[in-house]
Amino acid sequence: MELLDVAIVGAGPTGLACGIELKRRGISAVLFDKGCVVNSIYHYPTNLVFFTTPELLEIGDIPMTSLNEKPGRTEALKYYRRVADHYGLTVHQYERVLGFDGTSGNFNVRTETSDGEPHCYTAKRIILATGYYDIPNRLNVAGQELAKVIHYYREAHPYYNQDVLIVGAKNSAAIAALELHWTGARVTMVHRGGGIHHNVKYWIKPNIENRIKSGEIKAYFRSQVKEIRQHDVTVVTPEGEVTLKNDYVFAMVGYRPDFEFMEEHGICLNEATMKPITDPVTLESERPGVYLAGVIVAGTHTNEIFIENGRFHGKQIAEAIERSL
Ligand SMILES: Cc1cc2nc3c(=O)[nH]c(=O)nc-3n(C[C@H](O)[C@H](O)[C@H](O)COP(=O)(O)OP(=O)(O)OC[C@H]3O[C@@H](n4cnc5c(N)ncnc54)[C@H](O)[C@@H]3O)c2cc1C
Repeated sequence: MELLDVAIVGAGPTGLACGIELKRRGISAVLFDKGCVVNSIYHYPTNLVFFTTPELLEIGDIPMTSLNEKPGRTEALKYYRRVADHYGLTVHQYERVLGFDGTSGNFNVRTETSDGEPHCYTAKRIILATGYYDIPNRLNVAGQELAKVIHYYREAHPYYNQDVLIVGAKNSAAIAALELHWTGARVTMVHRGGGIHHNVKYWIKPNIENRIKSGEIKAYFRSQVKEIRQHDVTVVTPEGEVTLKNDYVFAMVGYRPDFEFMEEHGICLNEATMKPITDPVTLESERPGVYLAGVIVAGTHTNEIFIENGRFHGKQIAEAIERSL
């Protein structure tokens, strides 16, 4: 069985930052990702433009450039691939971590590769950097399990000339609504709140609000989806229930970290916020030897940690592991 200093679960920007900071300190680490390197970003909308300027997405002191003020998804994918190469990180892509047991200094990590082969490793320390993008928040309404309910918007083309309902009014919902509208879908938005969220990117907000004002995009605010059926949906609005013709529902209501995985592995969570309890300096959890990095630390408050600030967790954790080994 292979003996590692550190097993890093997740090769997103944060997992990579952890790998780099450990390598700089001469500590051996393997990163495992169930998908490709920066798998979440790979699955973002094809035409995504980050809200962050490039220098705030940088890891390992490697400068990032962009053709425009804000980088796009493809530029970010290229950048993080290049950084992983530059530092010679060992990334096991398409190898899911199923679980681990043992104690600090001697963890057994169980994985499975995409061909279904089980593998096992021994690691002195574990870093969980599994993000939040794999688990979409549910609408909790009848019909949410239908195949036409989509939690990951990629591109608008397949929805041309279709009746599309978008649930939510934050960035992802607003951008999907605009792209779908430009592509010839008939778009309706539904949101519990009173309008488009105040945090929506400054170049998107006026655009979506003007499309709503002109009636090109229909919006029901202070409203909720009640039921989704194959060809229509029921929405509860302040004026009463309405039934809308519908082909697809985009449930753009956010994502959450894998709380069950953490709890099953002895990571204590704050009951109110679901934030894992960690030492603020070292980010070690209450299970000795297990560290948490990136947006997973934010619990349900996923808008508090992004690449911009999560990338610094790598240094904090690597320093702590170096001291403790
Ligand atoms: C549409 C969108 C736009 C965004 N724009 C910005 C922005 O402009 N600026 C910004 O700073 N932030 C932005 N964010 C937020 C940011 O992308 C995330 O906060 C960031 O990706 C978190 O990084 P991470 O490394 O913690 O997690 P992730 O990037 O999600 O990486 C986690 C990795 O863990 C892997 N994984 C999960 N479970 C397992 C397992 N059991 N075994 C193996 N691997 C596993 C996943 O495949 C994934 O690759 C955006 C988010 C979204 C959804």
